[in-house]
Amino acid sequence: PSPVTSYTYTSEKAQNLNVIYFVPTDVAIPPDYHRRLSEILLNAQEFFGNEMQRNGYGLKTFGLLKDVVKKRIKLIEIKGKQGKAAYPYNGGSGAVQAEIAAFKASNPTAFTSDHNLIIIPAYDYDANGEPGGPPFYGVGKSCFALDYIDQDVKYLGAGGTLGTRATKWIGGMIHELGHGLNLPHNRQKAISEASLGMSLMGAANGTWGKSPTFLTKADCAVLNANQVFNNDNKTYYATVNAAVVRIQAAYDVGKASIILKGKYSSNTTVTDLVYFNDPNVNNEGTGVNRDYNAIAWTSKPISNDSFYVEMPINDLVEKADNIPYELKLKMVHENGTVIETAYSYTFQNGLPVLNFSTRAEMSKQDWKLQSFSSEETSGEGTVNGRAITLIDGNASTYWHSRWANNAAVYPHEFTIDLGSIKTANGLSITQRSGLSRSVKDAELLISNDGISFTSLGSYVFNNSNGPQYFNFSSVKSFRY
Ligand code: ZN
Repeated sequence: PSPVTSYTYTSEKAQNLNVIYFVPTDVAIPPDYHRRLSEILLNAQEFFGNEMQRNGYGLKTFGLLKDVVKKRIKLIEIKGKQGKAAYPYNGGSGAVQAEIAAFKASNPTAFTSDHNLIIIPAYDYDANGEPGGPPFYGVGKSCFALDYIDQDVKYLGAGGTLGTRATKWIGGMIHELGHGLNLPHNRQKAISEASLGMSLMGAANGTWGKSPTFLTKADCAVLNANQVFNNDNKTYYATVNAAVVRIQAAYDVGKASIILKGKYSSNTTVTDLVYFNDPNVNNEGTGVNRDYNAIAWTSKPISNDSFYVEMPINDLVEKADNIPYELKLKMVHENGTVIETAYSYTFQNGLPVLNFSTRAEMSKQDWKLQSFSSEETSGEGTVNGRAITLIDGNASTYWHSRWANNAAVYPHEFTIDLGSIKTANGLSITQRSGLSRSVKDAELLISNDGISFTSLGSYVFNNSNGPQYFNFSSVKSFRY
């Protein structure tokens, strides 16, 4: 057929995924890219819709500007100002994004949402013809993938080199698209999802188009509040003020499940609660992008301020002794903003050891910070860094030792006046959220007069998020 040169792109949505084709000055464009990429993205759009429906969210998928009759999608084509050397895999995403931002400034209507899929033709091919070169990962609401001459849905499941390659790179592209649509890694449940195959946000670059690949319900809960999955003009991703007020975690032997329940507060409607159980195995660490093996559950809010979930541990894969787990409770808000609170636990003898349930804390209303050895008052903003944040009851603020001028050296010390003599069973501390510069070793001393102190011994705090509780050997009474 003679080449089609004109298309009419429409979408039922006002806000659509921006699909950007970015070409450096010295890179050849692989032939037939418009057809090949259109077919890949139209497949993906259908996949997301089907998986949303299967998970109970209705046939709902990301918006895409497309010519329905000619089966082509709108590509925002941008000619890079520099050669491929300016856009390497490692560290090259910023240069690409800067040029896209400049292009967007002069072509604002070409972009209809905050979500960008940026596809760049491969720069380097190895001896076997394997493509590579450009950035290939998610960065916030943008994600990067590559294009190469044989990247074509017709090779999916076809076997051989081109079949394996298509699964790897197309599956990889759709996985990165998941990141660009706000999804973190998470894998299939060990037993109840075994028949579903591979989770997209696990290792879909080994299965896409070849063997079953699916979206977890946790993914769908996040996508359900995504800007390009909805068709309304509310503002997405605005800051919300939300917190876990109380959490109770216990292992129920009869149900062989972790039972989690509690209460939250938020100034914006929560649509879903998502619970990640993320083991730290093979020293992968914890936190963003280290959660490939996280296994997640979801629940709906109860009475707009409470949550309850049962998580059968037969569905967890890692249960060896002492594996550090993070339980991440995510509050998904109707404006797409997700607020996460992390708690640490471990397994012992095949069973979870859950010590993070909220305990009754003393009111800090009458507490005063009597003295401190160091605080940072210029380098951490207008609230953080100050010693008073140690006792403000707000887990999102933090103290930092003085560093911007005349950096202080440890040990650092604080004296807190409880206002009158109080009785306590133990100590609760919360590290800085995100665990930057955590506190490890501490000694607690008590006094009734603020002059002569008795040591209650040394503590080693965990490098983990959420409250940590330490019991005293016996009940203690003290004012300072
Ligand atoms: Zn990933």
